[in-house]
Amino acid sequence: MELTAESHSIPLSDGNSIPLIGLGTYADPHETPKGTAYESVKIAIETGYRHIDGALIYYNEHEVGQAIRDKIADGTVKREDIFYCGKLWNTFHPPELVRPTLEKTLTTLQLDYVDLYIIGMPMAFKPGDEFYPNDESGKWLYHETDLCATWEVECHPYFTQPKLLEYCRQNGIVIVGYSPLGTSRDPSWVNLKCPPMLEDDLLVSIAKKYNKTTAQVCLRFNVQRGVVVIPKSFSPARIKENFEIFDFSLSDADMKAVEGLNKNIRFVELLRWSDHPEYPFHDDF
Ligand code: NDP
Repeated sequence: MELTAESHSIPLSDGNSIPLIGLGTYADPHETPKGTAYESVKIAIETGYRHIDGALIYYNEHEVGQAIRDKIADGTVKREDIFYCGKLWNTFHPPELVRPTLEKTLTTLQLDYVDLYIIGMPMAFKPGDEFYPNDESGKWLYHETDLCATWEVECHPYFTQPKLLEYCRQNGIVIVGYSPLGTSRDPSWVNLKCPPMLEDDLLVSIAKKYNKTTAQVCLRFNVQRGVVVIPKSFSPARIKENFEIFDFSLSDADMKAVEGLNKNIRFVELLRWSDHPEYPFHDDF
């Protein structure tokens, strides 16, 4: 299938399809000026993005919804052109809370439906008003669940997930790779033992060869092997740059070389919850 800026969706087994690139929208709410997510989503839609990755827990879902609605209102897109993914947070895992929490997302977005609603993390926390509940001693308050693990997957040249990718291919499952550029390297939640991926010598040299940036090479690598990417950027120039991945393709040799960078190290380790009974990263995949 030839991937173009206008046509880069891949089919899902339920008959719907998902665009191979989406805009990630998580940014530290304390550090990000109000209105940034709104402007960024509008720019992304104008640039050609048709997939937006959001969540209630990002505290900016109202801005994201407003941007989508404004771009529908001004005729740039129709609702059915947009693929929106929302996420169920850890304190809402009990089955009776799922529907009202999804409805809260819909009210916040002021949209009638989302295209995908995923369990953001498979680890349940104690339900209640507190999103990060802990007791007086600071101990996390977990919650027992009977969860069929549904999981978005970190995926990029340093964590290429060959086994999982093969399993998903055989079973007709599409992977959405989060942190496809190696995260913002925010020390409060990112594993900084993993070196900055965008400075990798091999990626830099491949980028030079194609007259592209290392970020574009990382994104192209994944979309070329059928993995959906959701790079986050709130910079207009980088939102555009990250979408300019449909005018080149990596040679087989370069795809192999990038695959060889795999370090099996996660940027998003979530070690502070590693004692959770459902902590997902003890297992191989
Ligand atoms: P990314 O790998 O997308 O990297 C984002 C960082 O890279 C930001 O600091 C951004 O800064 C910078 N950046 C973006 N484009 C470029 C570029 N072209 N060149 C150089 N730097 C660039 O990290 P995320 O961890 O944010 O992952 C993406 C999205 O995935 C999230 O926003 C969220 O939607 C989703 N996610 C979901 C998770 C889950 O548990 N379900 C976990 C983690 C992420 P700037 O904005 O200034 O451009």
